[in-house]
Amino acid sequence: MAGVQTNERGGIITDDTRTTTAPHIFAMGDVVGGLQFTYISLDDYRMVRSKVLGDGSYTLDKRGAVPYSVFMNPPFSRVGMSEEEAAKAGYKVKTARLEATAIPKALVVGQPDGLLKAVVDAGTGKILGAHLFCEESHELINLVKLAMDAGLHYTTLRDMIFTHPTMGEALNDLFNI
Ligand SMILES: Cc1cc2nc3c(=O)[nH]c(=O)nc-3n(C[C@H](O)[C@H](O)[C@H](O)COP(=O)(O)OP(=O)(O)OC[C@H]3O[C@@H](n4cnc5c(N)ncnc54)[C@H](O)[C@@H]3O)c2cc1C
Repeated sequence: MAGVQTNERGGIITDDTRTTTAPHIFAMGDVVGGLQFTYISLDDYRMVRSKVLGDGSYTLDKRGAVPYSVFMNPPFSRVGMSEEEAAKAGYKVKTARLEATAIPKALVVGQPDGLLKAVVDAGTGKILGAHLFCEESHELINLVKLAMDAGLHYTTLRDMIFTHPTMGEALNDLFNI
């Protein structure tokens, strides 16, 4: 009756500013029916704020890579493409792998289980994705997302100075490919 249409799964249909099919009504967060995370709801709000109070420049296509974590022990975190997905998308990839047992901080905290993997575009050196299954991966994945969104060459993480002992310094070794 309000003119707000939903899709076959009950999600509210919006455009890339989170405007619904009724132009004076917006939908944000879980009701849109996409990724259901707190930070996605916040990012949806940024689009509505941009349209209503700003210059309308922040739209869905500006979102960048979306990381997520499963908070088990150790946590599993992912951003971007897997090796298979990247190959399917036509990229020639370089793959980085590191066992968590090689990370000093993982040994310090007594959690040496896990594996870190990242996929890099062999042509441009840009990071296409990462799967991190290790202590504090939910923190590390945000660093990888930042590097991806900024379009950094993977050697930036390989050569960056990190404090020691931290899980962050594992990125030096992971990207040593
Ligand atoms: C068990 C669980 C664990 C989760 N863990 C994580 C996590 O670790 N990290 C993460 O990012 N996300 C997590 N999520 C998902 C996250 O909670 C949601 O994606 C997020 O809360 C969505 O925000 P929202 O504002 O869209 O909806 P909500 O937070 O659900 O807010 C909707 C609000 O609308 C109110 N409401 C509903 N109907 C009406 C109505 N008719 N009139 C007025 N008010 C109404 C509700 O009471 C509620 O307050 C988890 C979800 C669950 C269920």
